[in-house]
Amino acid sequence: MNKKLSPYVTAQRFSVIRDMVARAKAYDNVISLSIGEPDFDTPAFVCEAAMKDTLKGFTHYAASTGDPELRAALLTDICAKTGLPYEGKNLLVTTGAMHGLLAVMRTLLEAGDEVLCPAPCFSDYAGHCGLAGGRLVQVPTKFDNGFQPTLEELEACLTEKSRVLLINSPCNPSGVVLKPATLDMLADFARRHDLVVVSDEVYDSITFGEKAESIVTRPDMFERTVVLNSFSKAFAMTGWRVGYAYGPEWIMGEMVKVLSYSVASTNTAGQRAALYALTGPQEEFAAMREAYRRRTALAAKRLNAMPGVRCLAPEGTFYLFPHIDAAEADSFAFAIDLLDKEQVVVVPGFPFGPEEAVKGCIRIACTVDEETLSEAMDRLERYLTNHCA
Ligand code: PMP
Repeated sequence: MNKKLSPYVTAQRFSVIRDMVARAKAYDNVISLSIGEPDFDTPAFVCEAAMKDTLKGFTHYAASTGDPELRAALLTDICAKTGLPYEGKNLLVTTGAMHGLLAVMRTLLEAGDEVLCPAPCFSDYAGHCGLAGGRLVQVPTKFDNGFQPTLEELEACLTEKSRVLLINSPCNPSGVVLKPATLDMLADFARRHDLVVVSDEVYDSITFGEKAESIVTRPDMFERTVVLNSFSKAFAMTGWRVGYAYGPEWIMGEMVKVLSYSVASTNTAGQRAALYALTGPQEEFAAMREAYRRRTALAAKRLNAMPGVRCLAPEGTFYLFPHIDAAEADSFAFAIDLLDKEQVVVVPGFPFGPEEAVKGCIRIACTVDEETLSEAMDRLERYLTNHCA
């Protein structure tokens, strides 16, 4: 039997995050700081309203482009946020931003095309580009420069095959918000080299100081930018699988084919839930953001007081990406030993970028309550004192 499979699939690695979670199963009393999803449940008013809609018959396929009411609410929100004249033809509802990422790469890339992405960056991007036949090129940025990409760093990775610039602000894993001047530079770079920009903004509402601006607001970026967003993080709705993408008609008009052939339409009840989350009372979501602010501040303060640990001030998301001297030699070995000795799960830095960008870094997700987070920091401190001094 010929067991030949698609190299686009077999070349992809399994997730290191899931590997760490699987390893943790062997231990008791584990504190997991590994999973990138809100620990909060979706607010009850959202679940109840969506459930009622299923009883009213919202149990059929939706349009491939999305539920009309959700699309209308999203358009109002997107136009207000960007000040740009988005219309129905510019917007697609996706099955989470994961689906948006795969669909946009499938639409933009042909075999061998390269996607430039400042790193550290979300580890799954390599899969989204690779499954579409392209290649993710991680552009190393520097901890000492607050992980803001520079023109020199980008130009060093540019080739004839560069087609897309993929950015993510606020960033998973670093929590960094791209500065307005960095966005100006990136927009200029994209225009000069005729790149399409994919801007992953799934954490854009979770910021603690400066708001995250969108690159699409820069001059002449409307026609070359696809923005991806999601209900997963901002509304604690990971399991409902609802995201959205907006961009110029020449891309979105083709991308809808990928949506219609892959999922037909995004889960109808999930889209109703998203509608209620977006248009309903916002207090519970604001309280979640405040919790992430407090937790990341607490953890960053504790980390910076530990010997051999440096952590950037949290700007957004619920992640921190500290540099730990003791993890310099091998961040994977560090994470495994920390789990073994103190039962704290963190994610080693290596899946998030090239060695020079992530050496010695680990990702911490502040998706546990403050008391548990403090206990995790106590354990990490004890580990560093007992095993790394
Ligand atoms: N982009 C980034 C940067 C993420 O961290 C995630 C989730 N971990 C996603 C996209 C995908 O989110 P979802 O599919 O749940 O919308």
